[in-house]
Amino acid sequence: MSDDGSEAPGKFTRSRMNDATDTVHLGRRPFDNNGFVNTPVYRGSTVLFPTLEKLISREQPYTYGRRATPTTDALTEAIARLEGGAATILTSSGLQAVAAALLAFVEAGDTILMVDTVYQPTRKLCDTALKRLGVTTVYYDPLIGAGIKDLITPKTRLVFTESPGSQTFEVQDIPAIAAAAKEAGIWVLMDNTWASPLYFKPFEHGVDVSIQAATKYIVGHADAMLGAVTGNARAAPYLDRIKEAVGTSPGSEETYLALRGLRTLDVRLERHHAHGLDMARWLQARPEVRRVMHPALESDPGHALWSRDFLGASGLFAFILEPVSQTALAAFVDHLELFGMGYSWGGYESLILPFDPRSYRTATPWTETGNALRIHIGLENIDDLKRDLDAGFKRMAAAS
Ligand SMILES: *Cc1c(COP(=O)(O)O)cnc(C)c1O
Repeated sequence: MSDDGSEAPGKFTRSRMNDATDTVHLGRRPFDNNGFVNTPVYRGSTVLFPTLEKLISREQPYTYGRRATPTTDALTEAIARLEGGAATILTSSGLQAVAAALLAFVEAGDTILMVDTVYQPTRKLCDTALKRLGVTTVYYDPLIGAGIKDLITPKTRLVFTESPGSQTFEVQDIPAIAAAAKEAGIWVLMDNTWASPLYFKPFEHGVDVSIQAATKYIVGHADAMLGAVTGNARAAPYLDRIKEAVGTSPGSEETYLALRGLRTLDVRLERHHAHGLDMARWLQARPEVRRVMHPALESDPGHALWSRDFLGASGLFAFILEPVSQTALAAFVDHLELFGMGYSWGGYESLILPFDPRSYRTATPWTETGNALRIHIGLENIDDLKRDLDAGFKRMAAAS
């Protein structure tokens, strides 16, 4: 996983090295900007046309701030290349990226197949706004694999995937799902936020459209909201049309922050991967912990698929405690020094968040009784993080 590829699994060495270089160089043209290393923030709505002829022909690179600026172009060029797709559109949040991706393809009367472990606000979008537009959502088991073909009807427009699943980290067999979708002539969309464009290459596995909540690892510093949707050559015109139709326009500052985050994405992810896995093993050995859900653990049910398809793991996973009272759980999480409690993830800082999948899963009811906690391992020293959790477990025991 280091730059010389020494720790990288053999078959991935080349692409990992390319990504490390690409994250540093893509989307930068210093000598278009007086030699300054970074593409500057272009703030702007109006773009002037020098002549009537230019106004009519629109033959100039930029025509209006909502469409594109040199700053947004730098980021879309980089993300499209890293994901391995044909073109990228940017949105003002990850959820807006999900919405734009879905709206690009659905029509009234369509059915969409949605993974039951999807990011919860995506589920809400389907159950409210899409439902009102006459689009029916059918939720499916994340482990369905090739069995997805039995759910495809003439009304099915697309299959939406997210792997590993939000909160519970089930790994999907994306190539098998994509093969069935291709056979039926329907689209495959994927929320690829967990792996980022570096650790899963969606288009090599049959995905047509890949979504990034760039808010997470690409921005990487918990200081901006941004989304990106990348399509293959067949999907790209649909994305372009929805962008024009609904005006998905990211903030200029946010776009810059994503470009800045991108420059260190490779080195940050190496740390998230290594320390996340180290912490997963440490938690697995704790008597207070019933189960750890992390696909890079050999014991994880998704491990075989993860090692086949992914190039690394990020710092986000979950674990289940042996059942404890609310008071004992509060004693654990309320006084952690380094782990913060809050939504989002992908920044440099460690986070912990209790969750309960029983409240929303429909296709695959959640039967686990222990308290579930999602954890994000940030860039801190791993021994300091373990000490923080160890002290928390001691408080929890004292309060039990
Ligand atoms: C956070 C997240 C989103 C939404 O991103 P926002 O920028 O917060 O709107 C979408 N998908 C996944 C998997 C996420 O974790």
